[in-house]
Amino acid sequence: MTLSNLRVLPLDLGYMGQDESAAAFLVSMGDTRILVESGPAACIHRLQEGLRAASMTIEQLDGLLVTHIHLDHAGASGLLTSERCHVYAHPRGAKHLADPERLNASAYRVFGSALDLELGRMEPNHPDRVHEIPDGGSVTLGGMTFEALETLGHASHHHAWILRQDGEVHVFCGDAAGMRIPGTAFPTIPMVPPEFDLHAWTESLEMIRRTNADSLWLTHFGHVTIESGFLDDVELEMHAEVDFLTDMIINDEMHLPERHRAWHQDRAEAHGVPAEILEVHCRPAFYRANYDGVSRWLSKTTKP
Ligand SMILES: [Zn+2]
Repeated sequence: MTLSNLRVLPLDLGYMGQDESAAAFLVSMGDTRILVESGPAACIHRLQEGLRAASMTIEQLDGLLVTHIHLDHAGASGLLTSERCHVYAHPRGAKHLADPERLNASAYRVFGSALDLELGRMEPNHPDRVHEIPDGGSVTLGGMTFEALETLGHASHHHAWILRQDGEVHVFCGDAAGMRIPGTAFPTIPMVPPEFDLHAWTESLEMIRRTNADSLWLTHFGHVTIESGFLDDVELEMHAEVDFLTDMIINDEMHLPERHRAWHQDRAEAHGVPAEILEVHCRPAFYRANYDGVSRWLSKTTKP
């Protein structure tokens, strides 16, 4: 049996000044080196440092796969793609990689002046270097084949990428398997507008379970397994937060940020997450986005 020397290395991008907040994954086998997620443009120097620590440079990348085109996942793509390194994305997201003007403008509406500091704007990718990969489609680079698994719920253009190698299954989950508070097993769920969809997301979790993956790689952040029950906790927390917010939307008709945060803190503390750690990772904008995401989803859903 030949060993392929597949290596998956999460590079910590220091997103929003925090450790273990966002990753790009350097996936290498032989002399082929692929990046899954580019991270935000504002973190390009941390990405370069991470690559340097792995004894390589941006110019040596052979491909870039992104789970979706939000700026924390694909924002640096335009700084990475080249004649050698093309980018692969969901068909509904790919066109924005070549023409990111609308993407940057809508991010500016959400983040305002914090956009340049925390995320940065996406530079356009050359259209000939952007490839649309449909659900079930695949990308083969060197000896590695990545299969696209459409996983909606967080965004309407989200893929998880499955890599099967030497009997091991790796899934790069993007945001479809939630986020994790560093150092804990507590998941937080970015239920952002305008595309959050509870039912689609629940189905995506089931699709990820069915891959029987040995390794789930979370962009926010790191490595979990299916056996650990992390996906079940994501499902549980997501449904609980949707129920909580649905009550708030129906009864109070406005976002009550303190109540939302206090509710979340109780749940986090039950999982051993100290309040000060939660505060660092779940800022007011996180709660506001989840409220807006659930509101928007409810307004699209036919109520009984
Ligand atoms: Zn994200």
